[in-house]
Amino acid sequence: MPCSAPRPTSTRRWSGARRLRALLWEADWGRYGWPEEYGGRGGSSLHRAAVHEELFRAGWHGPAVFEHVEIIAPTLVRYAQPAFLEQRLPRFLDGAEVWSQGFSEPEAGSDLASLRTRAVEDGDAFVVNGSKIWTSWSKWARWCLALVRTGTADERHRGLTMMAIDLTAPGVRVRPIRQANGTDELAQVFLDDVRVPRTQLVGEPGEGWAVAMYLLARERGTLSWLRHCGFRRRLLEEHKSLTVADDRAVGDFVAQWAGVRAAAADLLHRDAAGQDLGPESAFNKLLMTRAEQELQHLVHDATGPRVGVPVDEEDLLRQREYLFSRIVTVYGGSQQMQLITIAKHVLGLGRG
Ligand SMILES: Cc1cc2nc3c(=O)[nH]c(=O)nc-3n(C[C@H](O)[C@H](O)[C@H](O)COP(=O)(O)OP(=O)(O)OC[C@H]3O[C@@H](n4cnc5c(N)ncnc54)[C@H](O)[C@@H]3O)c2cc1C
Repeated sequence: MPCSAPRPTSTRRWSGARRLRALLWEADWGRYGWPEEYGGRGGSSLHRAAVHEELFRAGWHGPAVFEHVEIIAPTLVRYAQPAFLEQRLPRFLDGAEVWSQGFSEPEAGSDLASLRTRAVEDGDAFVVNGSKIWTSWSKWARWCLALVRTGTADERHRGLTMMAIDLTAPGVRVRPIRQANGTDELAQVFLDDVRVPRTQLVGEPGEGWAVAMYLLARERGTLSWLRHCGFRRRLLEEHKSLTVADDRAVGDFVAQWAGVRAAAADLLHRDAAGQDLGPESAFNKLLMTRAEQELQHLVHDATGPRVGVPVDEEDLLRQREYLFSRIVTVYGGSQQMQLITIAKHVLGLGRG
């Protein structure tokens, strides 16, 4: 793929991503790795990883609005109610419906257990009030997998419940947030007396924290496979901008990339064997983050001031990706929180 390819707009990326999902589903490739009872062909996340790697080799630019297919969809398979899954999962996988993830709130990020969006039981539904922020892709999404408080504030993580909120329901408002890199894939979601049927609970009431941890292990872990395929592709696209002087930096990056790949492959095999991914996935997130920043530094240094003052579409893409690489240490839990997770829950430090 030549570097002079035009930069697709967000809307073109979204419609292209949707069309590709439909084609893959139709041709069965999008069904591998998903349960047969919901339209899949069976298999595991290893099958999906193989398909993704081939797509990147063929010129794919990544899942865009369907990034959550590797994060939310496995969580739904594990925890959602069968009738809901039967209706929604095929529509997620074939590109008809986009999902977003509603964990963070204006006053609750790293300290997720302090979240305040409240759901109160009312007959066969819950009535939800509050606000979620930094919800990626919610501008395009039909659904938001939201962590809400059904217990008291004192119960912290024990008083939380996970539910699928229909973003077209009355009382929902989505306000896109423009980022420093010019995109607006993030948004704030306002929830004002939104009724959520019990059938849309994902896991049992009060079980939200366990569901959230299952999901986050995917966001930190299995996603690293997808992203490392994209890093390789990006390096190949940039090879013409690089000179012999960049060789050492390229070597450093490739060594880190190989580390991300090995760690992600190990995690995928554990996932395929039905093992819990657990807090170790924080290592994958740290490795993935470091490799992405290394790659973007490399491109930035090789293309010089053009990243600061873009002269064409390709420079704009470089600028967007460079600026995005500044915040990759934050999504899915900040760098400090990953280190704390490893210290406490992998190494067992700081427990008195
Ligand atoms: C690109 C992107 C996409 C995102 N997508 C989503 C999404 O789809 N859904 C969603 O719910 N959220 C999403 N987020 C939000 C993300 O999960 C939060 O930004 C993150 O959890 C940090 O929370 P915060 O922004 O409130 O920062 P804070 O929690 O206020 O943290 C600010 C700083 O303080 C540090 N800090 C906080 N507590 C401690 C501590 N105890 N010890 C040491 N340091 C600490 C943090 O490491 C950080 O550096 C996204 C964020 C980004 C950048």
